[in-house]
Amino acid sequence: MYAAPFSYHRPASLQEAIKLLQELGREARIIAGGQSLIPLMKMRMVRPAALVDINFIPGLSEIQSPKGELRFGALARHADIENSEAVSAIPIIHDCAAGIADVQVRNQGTIGGSLAEADPSGDWGTALLTLETSVICLGPQGQRTVPLEEFIKDAYTTVLAHDELVTGVHVKVPPKGSGGAHLAFKRTAPVYPTASAAVQLTLEGKDTCKEARIVLGCVGLTAIRAKEAEAVLRGKTLSEKSIQAAAEAAREAAEPQSDMRGSAEYKLLMVATLVKRAIGIAARRARGERAEAGHEYVGR
Ligand SMILES: Cc1cc2nc3c(=O)[nH]c(=O)nc-3n(C[C@H](O)[C@H](O)[C@H](O)COP(=O)(O)OP(=O)(O)OC[C@H]3O[C@@H](n4cnc5c(N)ncnc54)[C@H](O)[C@@H]3O)c2cc1C
Repeated sequence: MYAAPFSYHRPASLQEAIKLLQELGREARIIAGGQSLIPLMKMRMVRPAALVDINFIPGLSEIQSPKGELRFGALARHADIENSEAVSAIPIIHDCAAGIADVQVRNQGTIGGSLAEADPSGDWGTALLTLETSVICLGPQGQRTVPLEEFIKDAYTTVLAHDELVTGVHVKVPPKGSGGAHLAFKRTAPVYPTASAAVQLTLEGKDTCKEARIVLGCVGLTAIRAKEAEAVLRGKTLSEKSIQAAAEAAREAAEPQSDMRGSAEYKLLMVATLVKRAIGIAARRARGERAEAGHEYVGR
């Protein structure tokens, strides 16, 4: 099916984009990679009267690594992030970028579009919540920096006003002795996961967990921070018993619904298994070991 008719606008600067969003009103939508918006328009689930294409605004695709931070322009593509040298400082970010759909989607889809879409199954929200992440938003009143925990309010809902856009995503590099992993279970590559888990740990010595963040994806209306599971690990020695207890606590935090990707019961089992595996990989990385974190696919 074709999308309903719309007008198309191509601003050359952020100021022009904001002015257009103000003039065109609530019926206008920004288009970035188009990987969520275009399918929805073709299914006529959304019918924007106008599209404001931000792809021709210079400087929005950059990936920078000032001291202690990674900074992504809103238009940094998943593939650019996957292939960025700078991202090796935070392996969980590479896991996330490399695991999104297939190469076509990764070549087009953007980090800013993904967070702005706030799809409950979107991978960036899950992975980046394990880190100190800020979303940089710009509107007629100027720029504001919003912590990611506050940026996504609900499924498909963010704090963005209709005339405001995301210009960048800033992530603090975790302290020495840290490691993370993002794992998902998928039916095939070009679909969203059935369940996913992101774990970021900071170790003291080889086995004591100083800090832990555990976030669950696709098992609730937004990514879920499993704080009880984090508390199970914090200050404890990482052992089979403590990791199992954390996985069980994480399962308790999940609120999955049955759908075409799996039953709620199945997702609960999956998410606990993914948390357990992600803790193992995160711990190995925190110790400085090399550990791969690939997604799991049905039948593989
Ligand atoms: C077949 C397929 C499989 C996919 N599988 C996965 C997957 O496994 N995991 C995953 O995470 N994602 C997946 N995606 C989604 C993909 O990651 C998209 O790139 C992402 O959701 C949206 O990014 P985009 O740049 O394409 O945004 P667009 O589609 O252009 O926009 C999405 C929404 O965000 C708004 N928006 C875009 N940019 C901005 C901005 N800078 N400021 C404010 N608002 C903005 C738009 O107005 C729109 O409402 C999949 C998509 C497809 C088509």
